[in-house]
Amino acid sequence: MFTKILIANRGEIACRIIKTAKKMGIATIAVYSDADRHALHVRLADEAIYIGPSPSAESYLVIDTIIQAAIASGAEAIHPGYGFLSENAEFCRQCQAHKITFIGPPVEAIEAMGSKSAAKNIMGAANVPLVPGYHGEDQNPAVLKQTANQMGYPVLLKAAAGGGGKGMRAVYHAAEFDQALAAAKREAKNSFNDDLMLIEKYLQKPRHVEIQVFCDQHNNAVFLFERDCSVQRRHQKVIEEAPAPGISHELRQRMGAAAIRAATAINYQGAGTVEFLLDSDGDFFFMEMNTRLQVEHPVTEMISGQDLVEWQLRVASGEPLPCSQDQLTINGHAFEARIYAEDPERDFLPATGKIISLQAPAETTHVRIDSGVIEGDEVSVFYDPMLAKLIVWDSDRERALQRLTDALSHYRVGGVITNIAFLYNLASCDAFRRGEVDTGFIEEHEEEIFRRRQEDIDYATPLAAQAIFAARTMRARERAKQSSEPNSPWHLVNHWRASDTQQKPLKITLGKQQIEAVAASAELPADIKVVSDKDGLNLFTPRGVFHCSETPPDLGLDDNHDSTANLTAPMNGTLVTLMVEVGAAVAKGDTLLVMEAMKMEHTIVAPSAGRVSEFFYQAGDLVDGGAELLLFEAAEK
Ligand code: ADP
Repeated sequence: MFTKILIANRGEIACRIIKTAKKMGIATIAVYSDADRHALHVRLADEAIYIGPSPSAESYLVIDTIIQAAIASGAEAIHPGYGFLSENAEFCRQCQAHKITFIGPPVEAIEAMGSKSAAKNIMGAANVPLVPGYHGEDQNPAVLKQTANQMGYPVLLKAAAGGGGKGMRAVYHAAEFDQALAAAKREAKNSFNDDLMLIEKYLQKPRHVEIQVFCDQHNNAVFLFERDCSVQRRHQKVIEEAPAPGISHELRQRMGAAAIRAATAINYQGAGTVEFLLDSDGDFFFMEMNTRLQVEHPVTEMISGQDLVEWQLRVASGEPLPCSQDQLTINGHAFEARIYAEDPERDFLPATGKIISLQAPAETTHVRIDSGVIEGDEVSVFYDPMLAKLIVWDSDRERALQRLTDALSHYRVGGVITNIAFLYNLASCDAFRRGEVDTGFIEEHEEEIFRRRQEDIDYATPLAAQAIFAARTMRARERAKQSSEPNSPWHLVNHWRASDTQQKPLKITLGKQQIEAVAASAELPADIKVVSDKDGLNLFTPRGVFHCSETPPDLGLDDNHDSTANLTAPMNGTLVTLMVEVGAAVAKGDTLLVMEAMKMEHTIVAPSAGRVSEFFYQAGDLVDGGAELLLFEAAEK
């Protein structure tokens, strides 16, 4: 076994790896960029080495610097985590050249799976079922379009080098094809510096079910069951679970066998994940193989009782797999919810800012938190905005789900917008409770998840009124207590008691609706939790989270925020392209420019017919969130 390893990553996964290394008595070396000087992974490691400026292209992705850090610190092995260099064949080769063990598969396996197109050729030959589609070399746009037309819409364009849902576009009609292809290629070029595209039949509402495989250097291979990662937004996983709901033992065995065929076809070693799409008939199709540890590996750990990072370290150091297939069993059910700094109400726009307060639920045998941040940390534009993973376990799905909603209602992050309320709502949807998950789940249940259904609003209105009134009363009492004249008539408040028969009319904002409500004279029911934030109150109820505030009086000011808001940068990012000429006439909704932030594209569109009279930035410029991007002249009516 190794005595010292370097972790070429940051955030929660670096912390997660350090934890297992410590348990095994292995010393750890962290690496960090400018932005991560005080980060948690740096504090937890035994040593830490500075590797450069904040942008990952100048630090976490610089192969040479990482290798030099490993040599300088005397590390015998490097764990790449996920993302960054974890699936980079050149990095793996450089490790070999410097006699450092790469904790992952052999370079040939990474190369074989590095391109989704090439991977499909290998898997087809190994008798692993594939999604119908085109994965050829010819990239002539006319040929690609012709192929899509022949396949029939909808189709899905995918970057062969893709990952994290980037460089991916669904196309529903031939007329949208050219623009979608250009956008997907641009995103792929930006993210992977490779814009080779493949086309797949876009399956309608399949499930994403993936198999965890493990292979050692002694020809042993096992699978550690499946994970259902169907619940996604923008093709990115949101809540994962293991085992997959409603999967029969027979189907699990068939998928496991196919996954092992996939792994052995490329002489795999270490931890890998074979991703399948599963349709409602029980047919499954290979999508890709990830040659690394996955973000969602903890749900597998919770149901199998195994530590997958420990397995990785053992296998990489030459030991055989710790268990054989028949020693592995499923115990209970686990969920993972990814806590992101992002705004679900604004199309999941990544958020930045300082984490002013952070209160996670207590960790127990049922609740695990893999976090990479602490109070006071800055969520920057440089890295993925995932803050932590909340993992829960119990003896069956229903109980585990109850643990999940319970833990989410105890998770508080102040200072940055998060998706916690969204996750809570998602997890408390009836269809999710019933395990009816597919990749279209969020779109399908949008009204329910965002609590915009009239029945939910009717349910929450009296609760919101009561909570607002109670909060107002409490504030007034607080002021009275702090005042030097506690008996001053200015501080008199009407005490609000259960016996009070008065009805209090209030103007409230509930979600996006303004409502005239009445605070009835009753206490809030016991199963309602109220959490305040800077804009109002969040009510955690059995039917979801509702945000409410007292509606400010209308001062009659003319605010035209809506027409100008989309001409400012939605967040810190880079301007990618200007799409129109200064002075050229544009129609309402035309794309004026494209920005990129956290590897995601955002388009800025014309608020009305008119023309751009000036752009304040050029392609390639870094732009601060909120900055005015251009001057727009609306056409005369
Ligand atoms: P990435 O590597 O960028 O994460 P994947 O190929 O793993 O991309 O696909 C991500 C998700 O996109 C899948 O989990 C699934 O929800 C959806 N998806 C991918 N391919 C298809 C397809 N052919 N039909 C329907 N959905 C798909």
